[in-house]
Amino acid sequence: MSEDIRLSFEFFPAKTDVGRQKLDKVRDELALLKPEFYSVTYGAGGSTRDNTKKIISDYSSAGFAVAPHLSFGGDDIDTIKQLISEYKAAGVNRIVALRGDMPSGMGGSSQLVYANELVAFIREHFGNHFHLEVAAYPEIHPEAKTFSDDIRYLKGKFDAGANSAITQYFFNPDAYFYFMEQCQKAGITQPIYPGIMPILNYQNLARFSSSCGAEIPRWLRKALENYADDEVSLRAFGVDMISELSATLLDNGAPGLHFYTMNQTDPTATIVRNLGLDPAAG
Ligand code: FAD
Repeated sequence: MSEDIRLSFEFFPAKTDVGRQKLDKVRDELALLKPEFYSVTYGAGGSTRDNTKKIISDYSSAGFAVAPHLSFGGDDIDTIKQLISEYKAAGVNRIVALRGDMPSGMGGSSQLVYANELVAFIREHFGNHFHLEVAAYPEIHPEAKTFSDDIRYLKGKFDAGANSAITQYFFNPDAYFYFMEQCQKAGITQPIYPGIMPILNYQNLARFSSSCGAEIPRWLRKALENYADDEVSLRAFGVDMISELSATLLDNGAPGLHFYTMNQTDPTATIVRNLGLDPAAG
């Protein structure tokens, strides 16, 4: 494994004061693992705009490297530009630039349609101030007609000025390796960081996976079903399985890992430690 493996940790914006206090604690615990940055998700349509902005600006002023997600959904370009200016003023220099999915029933007046247009918009108005991350889909975005279309559109995001990508989570390492091969063939040279989803609860994972197009392989589905109501054993199995998946990815050239922490210190911290990536352990 390379010495300079990039770790990043994703949070969703806490809605209550208690949730926020818990999140601050998780942030401090995960800080021991020296992440490159923390990212905070954003509900397309602006549903979490204030919460995301508040957490990002508080963490940035406290000296943490942060990256707001910006999924424009139906937002018009003035709203998007204003938000990005506020992030810049708050000392933020990284953004995860996304199209987002509009909650059903919500319309929008955005002049932007795809994420490559957001990337181009940020480059046009903010130059190279921001490091721009975009989304990538080793198992292919659910709306993509073909595999090669999706890779072509990912290339379009890099051509528009993105610096790196973070993937949707997946459980089959071959999906990532094959995807990386195809990206290289398409001329993509920028780093693509696997998104890692710890396993916490089978029902939630199954529901979310079917909507975002992440496949739970049959063997894994069956293994998880086995634990039914025994969440302690399920989490222990999940830590072993995801540690193994992460090790395979890093051993075979993944440049780092982006953890969907679900606002919890564990299992992310245990997985990172299992990988021998805790700086405190030497
Ligand atoms: P795009 O890159 O625009 O792609 C969307 C679809 O359009 C794909 O099928 C693509 O193949 C196709 N496409 C792209 N460009 C073109 C084009 N020029 N012409 C025709 N078709 C095209 N969602 C949120 O709401 N908030 C978040 O905080 C959030 N965080 C995420 C973090 C990560 C790491 C990932 C992987 C996803 C995240 N999402 C988030 C989900 C994401 O917004 C959805 O997957 C959304 O459906 C697609 O966003 P995108 O930026 O990949 O879109």
